[in-house]
Amino acid sequence: MARRVTPVVTSGIGMTSDRTRARMVERLRAAGIADQAVLSAMTAVPRHAFVDEAIASRAYDDSALPIGWGQTISAPYIVARMIELLRAGKKLGKVLEVGTGCGYQAAVLARVAREVYSVERIGQLLEKTRARLWPLKIRNLRLKHTDGSQGLPEAAPYEGIIVAAAAATIPEALLKQLAPGGRLVIPVGVDEQQLVLVERKEDGFVESVIESVRFVPLLEDMA
Ligand code: SAH
Repeated sequence: MARRVTPVVTSGIGMTSDRTRARMVERLRAAGIADQAVLSAMTAVPRHAFVDEAIASRAYDDSALPIGWGQTISAPYIVARMIELLRAGKKLGKVLEVGTGCGYQAAVLARVAREVYSVERIGQLLEKTRARLWPLKIRNLRLKHTDGSQGLPEAAPYEGIIVAAAAATIPEALLKQLAPGGRLVIPVGVDEQQLVLVERKEDGFVESVIESVRFVPLLEDMA
């Protein structure tokens, strides 16, 4: 008797995720994200693959989602907005991300920058993320377990630095590691947080406040 072969169902969302993701990108465009490179990158990166299967069906909602260890993956709009600000319409060289989390933003960044370094303070979360990213074979992304409030001096300077957790004040180390002409995008504040863009000009740093945001805190130690 012939054996019945059961088809392998990888994930129910697999069938519809391309369309759902395209709709997410349309919502981002409607919300004012205009940088085509960012929209293309977010069309390409499978956001549902970065969260646990139990919540994968919500991966394309415009909301933050839990990723364990009390942390969250940022909502699609804020990921898009931060990378759009970082790019300022130009190709990016070397970039640092502070707060790898589940690795989603790092994967999007890796599509718009030549070289991406991403650091995370929670060792176990980073190990889970490494395992998740492995099959995606992103060759221009380096991950490191360290306290990113000190930046990552060994690969500095960076053309762009993006911080995915809110700092009470802008860490001096991050300003120091910014290349001339470089841009830092960081949520600042404790109760009330603002997304701040810092540009390193020839004669100093120029800060602009972009919009109100809600992020987990930037903590200054390792776990
Ligand atoms: N970019 C992430 C968002 C993760 S939330 C994503 O796409 O999923 C912010 C992350 O910053 C958390 O994982 C948190 O552990 C991390 N974090 C907080 N303080 C940090 C620090 N000082 N150094 C490195 N990572 C930090």
